[in-house]
Amino acid sequence: MRPQGVAVVGSVTVDVTAFSRRLPRRGETVLGDDVTLVLGGKGANQAVAAARAGAPTWLVGCVGDDPFREIVLSALRSQGVASSEIRSVGNRTGVAHIRVDASGENDIVMTPLANSDLSTDMVDESIRAVRDKASVLLLQLEIRTEVACHAAEAAARAGLTVVLDPAPAQPLPDRVWPYVAVVTPNESEAGALTGVEVVDVESAERAAAWFLDRGVRHALITLGAAGALSVTPERTRHFPAYPVDPVDTTAAGDAFTGAFGAALAAGLDTDTAIRRGMAAGALATTLPGASPSLPDRKAVDELVDRHAIVDGSAP
Ligand code: ADP
Repeated sequence: MRPQGVAVVGSVTVDVTAFSRRLPRRGETVLGDDVTLVLGGKGANQAVAAARAGAPTWLVGCVGDDPFREIVLSALRSQGVASSEIRSVGNRTGVAHIRVDASGENDIVMTPLANSDLSTDMVDESIRAVRDKASVLLLQLEIRTEVACHAAEAAARAGLTVVLDPAPAQPLPDRVWPYVAVVTPNESEAGALTGVEVVDVESAERAAAWFLDRGVRHALITLGAAGALSVTPERTRHFPAYPVDPVDTTAAGDAFTGAFGAALAAGLDTDTAIRRGMAAGALATTLPGASPSLPDRKAVDELVDRHAIVDGSAP
């Protein structure tokens, strides 16, 4: 039997968010209403999403030697993410510095710090440590591109299914694509990578062809409230979104990829995994914030089951 775990290679930060009625003008100081310190980083968010979806989950990443380290480690552990592959390096833990005004408008300075210290050797060591326990590897691009590309190749060679969320979008060398089993960009990331402006299902299909032409086995383009488009050499299929009332779409993509990866690792078929990812993405939009909005397995089960009764889409 294939191991049911998920390994995530990626970033981990403390998100320091200041809330004020309005954002300061250049050089100005305003009085704020609140500050929160929350676990963040796309790698950590995907890991929490996979763990909450029920998969044994390891995050492979780097934290610093500072008080923020304990904040992120205890948050990850409390969400069920194994921290055995997180290294403390002689640097500072990554920080995303976020300001939000009363209308929800925000700006962010993401400083990778320790995340830049994740090396190809560390990734190799961690893949060796988890390869008997995990069958899926999730990747995003908030770590050094060279390390992310190496992780894709090493994990694929070790027999893991590599799922790449190419966010934030940046050019990647052509040689990485054949190691990617599933690529999960949103519309703007698909557009930035392929040069095809993705505005609807038809343009998403053209962007998907770009990935398949380069050796990706499955392009899964997320379209926000318009659902997702799944394209393989055999089949193209549009999945409509689950209807929800969104309040904050932050981390919908991380919820999607984490729950999708957890379902694949559990041995579920691809369509079921897509539906579970989409349900997790939809649910993440119904709560404010990033990692605190990620749904658990029960909430995903309920949304998928409720919908299956309505439209008969049960697997
Ligand atoms: P990202 O956060 O990376 O931009 P998306 O917004 O495309 O990613 O969201 C990922 C998935 O979450 C979508 O494919 C969809 O299934 C679900 N989702 C996102 N926004 C909504 C929404 N407003 N209503 C229903 N489902 C949504």
